[in-house]
Amino acid sequence: MGIGVKQIELGPLANFIYLIADPVARDCAVVDPAWDVPEISKALAENGWNLSKIIITHNHPDHTNGVGRMLKAHDVPVYVHRADSYALREFGKNVRSSESGDKIRIGALEATLLHTPGHTEGSQCLWVEDRLVSGDTLFIGGCGRVDLPNSDPEKMYRSLRKIATLPDKTLVFPGHHYAEARCAPLLGEKGGNPYLKVSATRGLEDFLSLVGM
Ligand SMILES: [Zn+2]
Ligand SMILES: [Zn+2]
Repeated sequence: MGIGVKQIELGPLANFIYLIADPVARDCAVVDPAWDVPEISKALAENGWNLSKIIITHNHPDHTNGVGRMLKAHDVPVYVHRADSYALREFGKNVRSSESGDKIRIGALEATLLHTPGHTEGSQCLWVEDRLVSGDTLFIGGCGRVDLPNSDPEKMYRSLRKIATLPDKTLVFPGHHYAEARCAPLLGEKGGNPYLKVSATRGLEDFLSLVGM
């Protein structure tokens, strides 16, 4: 089955915004619309894709500050994990509070939302066709901050352990361009990303000392 993935780097924090599409049906979801909404709209138009939903990996503003402007042009549902949905309540009827395991259709594609708390309580990843859009949970070579007000390092440890059980051929698409690579196979991250490796192979104490908690 075909899948279209467009990765767009925007904003002062090197955020990655994703368009995930069924190129045959021309149906498209945007993950974490932020910063430069005209640039996102331009990418949609260039590919001839129709936006049918917004998916939010977590409620930090650098991932959500384009939602309101996107909704002005596209009256579509906004999927956010229920634990992070409070920050989007201004979007009222458009908000869909999601749970782990929820399925989202993008044309003929079926995407699964995986709850991966730790960076925020409601952080979630999108898993579709052996791609994992990992937000600020898993970066290439790193993981998201766990020292913020809604962070929990122990939950991050368990979330990274869960991600490590996904198929090795999974490609990781992170929420920021913090490493040289823009995406990377999960197999390589399991060996080369110390946060993922320690989570998958060692106890909680080792993870906590790695993150300095
Ligand atoms: Zn964040
Ligand atoms: Zn971020």
